[in-house]
Amino acid sequence: MTAPARKVAVLGATGSIGASALDVIARHPEALRASVLAAGGRVDALLALCERHRPEHAVIADERGFAALRDGLRERGLSTQAHCGDQALVELVGSDACDTVVAAIVGAAGLTSTLAAARAGKRLLLANKESLVLAGELLMDAAAQAGACIVPIDSEHNAIFQCLPDAHAHAGLKRILLTASGGPFRGRTRSDLTDVTPEQAVAHPKWSMGPKISVDSATLMNKGLEVIEAHHLFGVGGERIQVLVHPQSLVHSLVEFVDGSTLAQLGLPDMRTALAVGFGWPQRIDSGVAGLDLLAHGRLDFERPDLDAFPCLRLAFEALAAGGTAPAVLNAANEVAVSAFLQRRIGFLAIPALVEDTLAALPSQPASSLASLRDADQRARRHAEQAIVQRA
Ligand code: NAD
Ligand code: MG
Repeated sequence: MTAPARKVAVLGATGSIGASALDVIARHPEALRASVLAAGGRVDALLALCERHRPEHAVIADERGFAALRDGLRERGLSTQAHCGDQALVELVGSDACDTVVAAIVGAAGLTSTLAAARAGKRLLLANKESLVLAGELLMDAAAQAGACIVPIDSEHNAIFQCLPDAHAHAGLKRILLTASGGPFRGRTRSDLTDVTPEQAVAHPKWSMGPKISVDSATLMNKGLEVIEAHHLFGVGGERIQVLVHPQSLVHSLVEFVDGSTLAQLGLPDMRTALAVGFGWPQRIDSGVAGLDLLAHGRLDFERPDLDAFPCLRLAFEALAAGGTAPAVLNAANEVAVSAFLQRRIGFLAIPALVEDTLAALPSQPASSLASLRDADQRARRHAEQAIVQRA
């Protein structure tokens, strides 16, 4: 008898990671089934996915979309049940509607459902890095207590996960080398960046991703968030994490052991590999991604990141060192600043300036509870919004 199919909840189903996850799921109809699909506000896109993947449940975060979702499912003759709002999502994630959760909502909005998956002991394919930055200790503790297996769905952390298969490997770990593509503005000086547009910022040279993470890649805040993410996932301090710019984006990260060995994971820049690792682990399953032809690529380059042109990376290291509420403040100010940049309310260089200003205005406090972290998140959002209004 074969094992029953894994029932997968895809949160952020209409996004870039959501699409990659559904692509891998559809390749394994015997082993994987999309049982819950959740999205923010795009009802039409969610309905199209329901038609294709036939989940038992569909959830739209924005309550104004509920009637359109329910009626659209009925018109299509689908038996999928419609739901709306955060609470419905949390209940489904914790129920036996799924045993595996792909947490791919963008931003702090993903924290509640990600935490619910950890607390319910689900296999957690964790793309929503902002939830780790905001509440990493709480999330890791919840997962450990409930026995939830977290597989990171960030190419770098997925690479490290593959290089550190067990506790023995962790024990001999000396440091982590996190690679970064450098983003679309690699090689530019700070003054070259004054007038860059949202279109230029989201045109990533190697990866196709949602708008928020694309801007984060252009400022190097994405790598900063990933340093904090690596700290929580693998239990290493910031002083043992080095960032290397690697423009080819083929080496997804490396780990160095006390004996002088360095292990790396390589592959084409396509998130379906990480997702297939998450679904199949410890087994390997087809992802649809071709293997790597190193002769065709020829060379692998590594450079030091330019912290003068891209201060967000420095700010993230500082927030990690400060601890407490500082990473939550960093993340919240960045979310507000990136959204304002995408709406053309502020320039590109205002993103690090706003984050730095907010961190200075709200000094780190002990982060004893989820409530204190949420409070820091809200205060940082208000501060950054006010600073944007004052600039205008
Ligand atoms: P995206 O913008 O393409 O998709 C975001 C998804 O979240 C959409 O389905 C949207 O409907 C949903 N969403 C937004 N707000 C919501 C809310 N309040 N409630 C419920 N759903 C909501 O983003 P993406 O590129 O797929 O990234 C998703 C997450 O994965 C981010 O945290 C990002 O940092 C991380 N990540 C992405 C990649 C990548 O290659 N795209 C790589 C590594 C990590
Ligand atoms: Mg990454």
